[in-house]
Amino acid sequence: MKKNIIVIGGGIGGLASAALLAKDGYQVTLIEKNSIVGGRARFLKLRDFYFDMGPSWYMMPEVFENFFKIFNKKTSNFYQLKKLKTHYRVFFEDEEIIDIYSDIKKNLETFKKYEKDGDEKLKKILQKSKFIYEKSMSQLVFSDYKNIFELIKTEILISLFKFNLFQSLHNYVKKIITNEKLQKILEYTTVFLGGSPYNTPAFYQLVTHADFNLGIYYPKGGIYQIIEALKKLCQEYKVKIITNQSVKKLFFQNKKIIAVETNKKNKYFGDIFIVNADYPFFETNLIPKEYQTYKKNYWQKKVFSPSAFLIYFGIKDELKNSDHHNLYFTEDWSKHFDNVYLTKKIPENPSFYYHIPSKTDPNMAPKNHHSVMILVPMPPGLYLNKIQSENFYKKIIKKFADLNNIKNIEEKIIVRKIFQAKDFLNDYNAYNGSAFGIAHTLFQTALFRPRNYSKKINNLFYVGHHTNPGVGMPPVLISAQIVYNLIKKYEKQ
Ligand SMILES: Cc1cc2nc3c(=O)[nH]c(=O)nc-3n(C[C@H](O)[C@H](O)[C@H](O)COP(=O)(O)OP(=O)(O)OC[C@H]3O[C@@H](n4cnc5c(N)ncnc54)[C@H](O)[C@@H]3O)c2cc1C
Repeated sequence: MKKNIIVIGGGIGGLASAALLAKDGYQVTLIEKNSIVGGRARFLKLRDFYFDMGPSWYMMPEVFENFFKIFNKKTSNFYQLKKLKTHYRVFFEDEEIIDIYSDIKKNLETFKKYEKDGDEKLKKILQKSKFIYEKSMSQLVFSDYKNIFELIKTEILISLFKFNLFQSLHNYVKKIITNEKLQKILEYTTVFLGGSPYNTPAFYQLVTHADFNLGIYYPKGGIYQIIEALKKLCQEYKVKIITNQSVKKLFFQNKKIIAVETNKKNKYFGDIFIVNADYPFFETNLIPKEYQTYKKNYWQKKVFSPSAFLIYFGIKDELKNSDHHNLYFTEDWSKHFDNVYLTKKIPENPSFYYHIPSKTDPNMAPKNHHSVMILVPMPPGLYLNKIQSENFYKKIIKKFADLNNIKNIEEKIIVRKIFQAKDFLNDYNAYNGSAFGIAHTLFQTALFRPRNYSKKINNLFYVGHHTNPGVGMPPVLISAQIVYNLIKKYEKQ
């Protein structure tokens, strides 16, 4: 008899693990709270403008390719990838602009222009980040941390000490690069990991390799094409996908979950359960205290990633000054990080990121228009009221208008939607409205992250950004493979 697997949550992690296990012959049912699957990677349509609600950077392409290979497929069976020639444009507060390209020679020239021997320094940094990336991919990221002794032997652990990768990324970078603009370019990717350059260890310079060496891609039609691809795999292997139902209650027998009940009072029985829903929410709200691996005070002590103030809008303008990916860095950006992690106040002069997919893909917006998403990192747990939200919106839109030389921008904005911490909480049950889950600080990395399995409930597994290997679409796809392997081991016991 085929065993039943219940997957709770239809984000990338839930869909990917459902497809992997269904391919192996399990009967899989996936239950998603929202009306469409995709989780943080959902899409939004406002009139004829399309927006990816969360992820916009398609990085580490080989992770996607390797995932689809398990199904004897390629990404090109589902979507067409375009490699971006300009990775991103950085606007600095003093009005200087730096572009980072896929052509490494151009980036070396830029570094040489701003820093004595900057080209040689960048080469050295990239060499090291390549080494760390490759060793981590082959020795670390697929680990479930059940056998810590295996880890001790790995080269990556030795290099952690050898290269002093425990220090913060900022400390590491500033010892090599003195120019503050270049420092920021080498440090901003820590936000991808839900952290800051001050609380993320230098080990994560491996993302610099992904940024500078591996390329930035765009799937035609937007990031949601990845979700469509995962959905197709699920359909091919007969995963039953249920939307608009939220799991509210669990039923136990002999240290095992036997069923879940949803808000619609439907009960689903299973042999194995995979949780893709927010880890802290699930552990502390749905699991009785005696079965919790990580109790309330565990999560209270964790460093959570920023939340985000997101503005999606359609605009009638050419936005000539901007590119596909754009970053705006203020001079006092460390103050913005302090706002996020320490004072937890609304940042006064925030740095931000904005994305214009219609620059690459005209189908994302009507002719002569663009669809734009602005992302401002915000303190988790800071829920803005209507007036605060409107004032903050005006501040950010004004800065956006300045960067793009637009007068009377409000007259050019056709549609708009704001999404903030409160929405992360309501839509995804996100702890404190955090956008990216728990941050990748030193003591929240690898074996220190919440595990992919429950230590108290034998048939319960966790997939997604809170657990290993971590935040971002590629790590979450890897997380699904870790859970798949754990379940195969569990079945053999
Ligand atoms: C604004 C933003 C920008 C980002 N940018 C990038 C980027 O450019 N590149 C990149 O690689 N990554 C990016 N990320 C990170 C990436 O999107 C996430 O790491 C990844 O999508 C998380 O997937 P997941 O499956 O772990 O979780 P989620 O996407 O959160 O999925 C969990 C699902 O569980 C559901 N759920 C919750 N509670 C219940 C319940 N009780 N019952 C049923 N279902 C439930 C939720 O509705 C949700 O659909 C970004 C994230 C955000 C928010």
